[in-house]
Amino acid sequence: MPVRPVDQPEGARKVHDLSEQDRDIIGAFVRFANARPFKSEAEVNTVFWSIPRDWAHRNWVQGVELVNINLDRETARRWLGQMMTQRDLKPIIDEINERFARGVAHAMPMLDATSHRIRHQDSLPNGVEGWMALGAMLIFNAGLRHRIERCHYKGNSNFGEVKCQNFVFSFPESRRPKLYCSDAHRRKQEVVRVGGYRQPKQRIRRKAAHRRETSPHRSERTPAPRGGEDGSRGSL
Ligand SMILES: [Zn+2]
Repeated sequence: MPVRPVDQPEGARKVHDLSEQDRDIIGAFVRFANARPFKSEAEVNTVFWSIPRDWAHRNWVQGVELVNINLDRETARRWLGQMMTQRDLKPIIDEINERFARGVAHAMPMLDATSHRIRHQDSLPNGVEGWMALGAMLIFNAGLRHRIERCHYKGNSNFGEVKCQNFVFSFPESRRPKLYCSDAHRRKQEVVRVGGYRQPKQRIRRKAAHRRETSPHRSERTPAPRGGEDGSRGSL
């Protein structure tokens, strides 16, 4: 299969080939990457039980130590970060394929009657690593790496909040990629913008208005001399 540049429009690719189940897998993969470091099995399962499918409602930890699940989470974050920014993706594609080679997921291959291409029906993860590998693969396969963003909330030192590190993924239906991981962060960033940019501009405008009021030239509404005070640089 030819390598596809990152900025090729998604229309060239059949993004609608993403089934509802594929979308659920991608969504939970991103939520897993965004989760805080896990302190219990229940926290891990809560991420995956968020999708309304019978097969998802099982124990995803399966005796794996939480420290390893948290390392998987770090890996998921690194994959998403590199998928959205890097051109040389062979290293992480190798990592994803290495996991599939270990049988972390299963899928029934089918030949698609429209595209005459291979499709995998009902790809299912066997565990957390399978979920990550499938989620990343589905984003690659649909040509949607450019829909991965980092939340634009820059933090606010007044509240002791640092820059948000969450990933945001937008499916192609939304015309513009989402910029914030939550409405709360969108609203907070608007507050930051008011405090950080708009107020100084208002102050600058107030200062300029004050200068106009106090300036002897402007107060008489006469045009200011061109160039220096003596008008020596004025055009002829
Ligand atoms: Zn955020």
